[in-house]
Amino acid sequence: MSYRFVRGLRTALCASAALSILVSGATFAAPVKKIPAVDVPLMRQVIKTLSSDEFEGRAPSTPAEQKVLDEIVARFKAAGLQPGNKGSWLQDVPTVEITASNVSPMTVKGKDGTPMSFAIGKDFVAGSYRFVPQTRVKDSELVFVGYGINAPELGWNDYAGLDMKGKTAVILVNDPDYEMQGEDGPFKGRRMTYYGRWTYKFEEAARQGATAAIVIHDTFPAAYGWNVVESSWTGAQYFVQSANDGMDQTQANAWVQKPVAEAILKAAGQDLATLTAAAKHKGFKPVPLGLTMDLSFDNTIRKAMSHNVVGLMPGKKRPDEYVLYSAHWDHLGRCAPDKTGDDICNGAVDNATGVAALATLAKMNRKAGPAARSQVFLAVTLEESGTLGSEYYAANPIFPLAKTVGGVNMDGLSPTGRARDVTVTGGDKSELTTLLRKVEKDMHLSETPESHPERGYYYRSDHFSFAKLGVPMFDVGLGEDLEKGGRAAGEAASEDYTVNRYHQPSDEYSDSWDMTGMAQEVELFYRLGRGLADGNDWPNWHPTDEFRAIRDKSLAEAGKK
Ligand SMILES: [Zn+2]
Repeated sequence: MSYRFVRGLRTALCASAALSILVSGATFAAPVKKIPAVDVPLMRQVIKTLSSDEFEGRAPSTPAEQKVLDEIVARFKAAGLQPGNKGSWLQDVPTVEITASNVSPMTVKGKDGTPMSFAIGKDFVAGSYRFVPQTRVKDSELVFVGYGINAPELGWNDYAGLDMKGKTAVILVNDPDYEMQGEDGPFKGRRMTYYGRWTYKFEEAARQGATAAIVIHDTFPAAYGWNVVESSWTGAQYFVQSANDGMDQTQANAWVQKPVAEAILKAAGQDLATLTAAAKHKGFKPVPLGLTMDLSFDNTIRKAMSHNVVGLMPGKKRPDEYVLYSAHWDHLGRCAPDKTGDDICNGAVDNATGVAALATLAKMNRKAGPAARSQVFLAVTLEESGTLGSEYYAANPIFPLAKTVGGVNMDGLSPTGRARDVTVTGGDKSELTTLLRKVEKDMHLSETPESHPERGYYYRSDHFSFAKLGVPMFDVGLGEDLEKGGRAAGEAASEDYTVNRYHQPSDEYSDSWDMTGMAQEVELFYRLGRGLADGNDWPNWHPTDEFRAIRDKSLAEAGKK
């Protein structure tokens, strides 16, 4: 998913309290020396090849995959990289596809035992993250847990004092202060934190030992309509294989429409609006509803294998410290045919451009000579199925995450010409901002506020798989203030892409593409990556950031704190 075209952001730099000599106050003093030229013909060639009909839209675990892998490996070899996985260019990514069927109504029995029955699709969607043939939830007690957040660093726990075993959590989407205008609430106000993401809700309910979890859909806090929920939860769901076959997950995860939640709470003698207001306050206590839920369905399970491609440029001074560049190579494959009958979603912008940037950055770094630290070039699979390739790498890192200083993810570069600004998705989360500010100054670029911080875009692409486990990651790109035509032209180009080409057969390459913006963007990524790779800083998340605790822990375990 590339949303590069619809965003922007203003960030306030906050100095993080000094931790220890090794990891505090990243200054990025090492100047980035001469910038090698961006090989635009190479970029065009890689994009043209990967987005050609011959590659059939690059769906993972299809015949097209081998062609994609061969192309990327050839480009990495030509750029002078070494195989990154113990002599191999590839990392296996074993996947599981689960398709639910025979889904029963969701039945909720009231105190007086009269059942309320809700229909799949119209009222609710559900699936299991456990790789089991049958899901059978019976008489599971419902508990309203507010926003379902356990944030020790904020002294906030909506599950405090509650044993969730055998029970079903009923959870609000987004975080408690999302209705604020500014960003200075406990959960960053209008900006969605990871605690607000539906994925977090299910993860935390599972950590609490819940049998099932139900997220209440509401269009504004969810940042999309029920149609998006219904379509993305219908059909096959993809997961990376795990040693325990997902048995640490709940038995069933579900979304319900808001009116369904209102009806359930009414049957419990409660009111959704009143409970929601209470849930916004620290110290909120979960509310057992005195109702039970039944839900059952079958699961068809299919295992498959896809691959990440890993290239390495060893560092000359501190080769056991790593900087990460990532971009997903996969796209949708064959999709709904357009009116011309074309059914290949070529994925030129999304994300042949990112893979082309990887190959070009590798070539630029070879020209510049090895950096102090090692640089890892990672083309990941299965981003379109939920950032699974990057998730798998982060869970099975070839290079230790605690030795990974930071990195840059590239998803959807824009063929719309040079820009005067950059946007940073996610806001000012870490000391990486110090380096970014230096690079902006050197490239005479300004910064534009992210237009939809409430949508939580930072949590929706591959950098997040690494950030979630503590690695500080950039998610930046050119803004919409184009040199030719200004903001109006930039916004029009974004709108045109989002409406007419995003995830459609028309996302195709053209020789008429203006590549000057992409070259500018690759230079930006080069300066950020090289700034990390030639320096000896260990940028950390800001003290209040949701990923600070896990980074401090992994650095401590690696003896870096
Ligand atoms: Zn993408």
